[in-house]
Amino acid sequence: MQIGYCPKCNVPVLGKRCELCGREPIPLRFHDLGDIRPISRKERNILLAQISLKEARNYLKNRLILLSKQPGLDYRRDIFVDGYKIGTLEYVKDESWRYRFVPTGKGAALIHALTSHIDFEIREKGHLKGKKIRKKIEGDWNIVRAGNCIGVAIPTETGAKIKDIYCRKVNTKRKTGIKDAIKANLGHMAYIEKKSIEIIKREKPEYVAFSGGKDSEVTLYLAHKAGVKKAIFANTGLEFPETERFVYNFADYLGIELIELQPKKDFWSVVDSFGIPTKDHRWCTKYLKLENLKKFKGTIADGTRKYESVARMGRGRSSTLGNLRVVYPIFNWLSLEVWLYIHMKGLPYNPLYDMGYERIGCYMCPAMLNAEFHNVKRTHPSLYKKWKNYLLKKGFSEEEIEDGLWRWKELPAKMKELGKS
Ligand SMILES: [Zn+2]
Repeated sequence: MQIGYCPKCNVPVLGKRCELCGREPIPLRFHDLGDIRPISRKERNILLAQISLKEARNYLKNRLILLSKQPGLDYRRDIFVDGYKIGTLEYVKDESWRYRFVPTGKGAALIHALTSHIDFEIREKGHLKGKKIRKKIEGDWNIVRAGNCIGVAIPTETGAKIKDIYCRKVNTKRKTGIKDAIKANLGHMAYIEKKSIEIIKREKPEYVAFSGGKDSEVTLYLAHKAGVKKAIFANTGLEFPETERFVYNFADYLGIELIELQPKKDFWSVVDSFGIPTKDHRWCTKYLKLENLKKFKGTIADGTRKYESVARMGRGRSSTLGNLRVVYPIFNWLSLEVWLYIHMKGLPYNPLYDMGYERIGCYMCPAMLNAEFHNVKRTHPSLYKKWKNYLLKKGFSEEEIEDGLWRWKELPAKMKELGKS
């Protein structure tokens, strides 16, 4: 399995050939294939706000942009446009937390091709990538011309350096969006749909676990097609209001019976005795969600995905939870396939995605990125305040809360450094 790119049609290709022109795609290299996804509305706005040049902003509006996860302290995504990486967007702390975009050399060359803009020129020759230059840079990056090459310069403690350079011509491409990507992959999408429905028909689940996230939504949709009639929503009591509404709306949209479960004792009445949930001590999922499911018997379909390989697709996997057998009909789907499927079928989806949330869960989930927490502050100030007040009561300082340090019981080294700054 790979994600390829058709340079002629300017679309990602999931199968062996581009279904628009029949060409073999160029394979794309990603850090984490399973998590490639289209940029959300909110992230696109964040990206556009980082680029002051109007023609470049216009070029990136409505165009298909793919994001690839990169390891880092917090939110860090490589940005792919027209089949190559144009830069990295990340959430960083200097004076305060903020987003920072830095283009690649090719990204800088694209911006230059669109705008003719350069910030300055250098006369040095030879190997320029990584070279230190004596220059004071305003902002996060500058576009540099060195002979026939276009590079990007970033500030350092002592001056600046050439971060990356690109010495060929960049062609601007026809604007393509998610609809074009769907058209280029219709046969492939029909194939994975068929494989997943086969798993459901074979395993015959009575229920689908429905959290309101995109993966469980697609699982529920496929299960509905295969004749399943019931969904279980294990409400943690810490859901965003959008999620609660969406879960009911979507079940209604399909005409599915929705069984909502509530924890026996709510989170707030047990958090003092269990402790603050952290990445390394996540009692919450088990206590608030899974315990409740154990009283059911039979088979349940779950939207867990863990990309493996196309050869294994359709084989199905399963596990048990109490008396329940759990099956995973979309185990091998990529995030990109889930999104293409949702758009291909014109399905409604949880509005939190467009608001900048990447995964749907509790509003104070310790697995969230700090970028997402700061987003909660803006989109759901009263929920944020409720959790913040609890953390203050437990002895965390304003700054520790701002840095999200409560998310670990044992702070990793990188986060300890952040706490000192
Ligand atoms: Zn093509």
